[in-house]
Amino acid sequence: MDKHNVAIVGLGGMGSGHAKWLTAEKRANLVGTYDIDPARQDYARSMGYRTYESLADVLADESVEIVLIATPNHLHKDIAILAMRAGKNVICEKPATVGCAELAEVIKVSKETGKLFVVHQNRRWDEGYLVMKQLYREKALGEVFNIESRVLGGRGIPGDWRGKKEFGGGMLYDWGVHLIDQMLQLTDEKIKKIYCQCTHVTNKEVDDGFKLLLTFASGMTAHIEVGTCNFISLPMWYMAGDQGTAIIGFWDMEGKVVKLHSWEDKDAKPIEAASGLTKTMAPRDGNSVEELPIPRIQSNPREYYANVFDYLEGKADILVKNEQVMRVLRVIELALESAAKNQALDFE
Ligand code: NAD
Repeated sequence: MDKHNVAIVGLGGMGSGHAKWLTAEKRANLVGTYDIDPARQDYARSMGYRTYESLADVLADESVEIVLIATPNHLHKDIAILAMRAGKNVICEKPATVGCAELAEVIKVSKETGKLFVVHQNRRWDEGYLVMKQLYREKALGEVFNIESRVLGGRGIPGDWRGKKEFGGGMLYDWGVHLIDQMLQLTDEKIKKIYCQCTHVTNKEVDDGFKLLLTFASGMTAHIEVGTCNFISLPMWYMAGDQGTAIIGFWDMEGKVVKLHSWEDKDAKPIEAASGLTKTMAPRDGNSVEELPIPRIQSNPREYYANVFDYLEGKADILVKNEQVMRVLRVIELALESAAKNQALDFE
């Protein structure tokens, strides 16, 4: 079987991850890398990668079948269009582009040239997301009425370009892309309302965090939150249904599922709670609920490449579809508008 020849444009944090993973891929051949920063070119050579002197050199190399774009966000559109016009397929880092209008241009060129444009939504392979999706789809918690998904860090926005609007910075276009994509893959429901609040604790120009509330057609809500000024974290996943609740703390998958036996026994006894009494909030005991471990799901994020290669060989449909990516970008655009107006907005 012939290997797929890939060249990487942008060999920073994520590009160097791709370079390592692709070097280990049996079905890929990393033919070379190009970065505008001489220090990154030196790094590439120190790793034994062949370096190109310019983007034009990458595109002129007939042996390159796939260009993998891992530059700052604002450059994705132009590089993708140039690459497809040069006859290359494109794997592009998320976010596909900065906004829907740019993605529409890219999709148009993909259709005109017949070349693949696919976005690297690797967090569709995150175990926490896969477990929550399974619990939701199997109705393990009954009818789900609220899902919360979070990533909270305490290091501010890293790097130069992520803090600048002109480079497509901000957390909605960063972690937001992953978490929104996961949520829209988790449920098939239509979104009815979007409300978003952004934070600007360490950065005035772009959002350094946000809280996004999606209300779906059934009334189910999703709370998606990203923070970069949080020195204590909160659980990454929390899902509540009328028959149970599930929680996952962090990437180590520590968590639990608590399932209700029956709603019959409603007459709790009041307990003393801080300075008062409460019956409503009296914790349930083992007689009425059952605690279970979080199920585990084996997942391999490198299946992403396998899917792209299968697609190019005509053996599979592409998993990350551009219309799904466009829907995520529409949510982000509306979230930014909602935050600016401090108003809930209609969607779909
Ligand atoms: P980075 O700043 O570490 O790397 C970007 C690199 O692009 C730098 O080395 C820079 O010199 C280079 N570059 C800039 N302009 C260029 C140009 N015109 N031509 C060639 N190279 C150029 O940033 P990063 O964290 O690696 O992020 C890069 C992309 O990857 C972003 O779109 C980001 O959103 C995405 N990303 C995705 C994930 C994921 O999990 N999928 C994780 C991190 C970053």
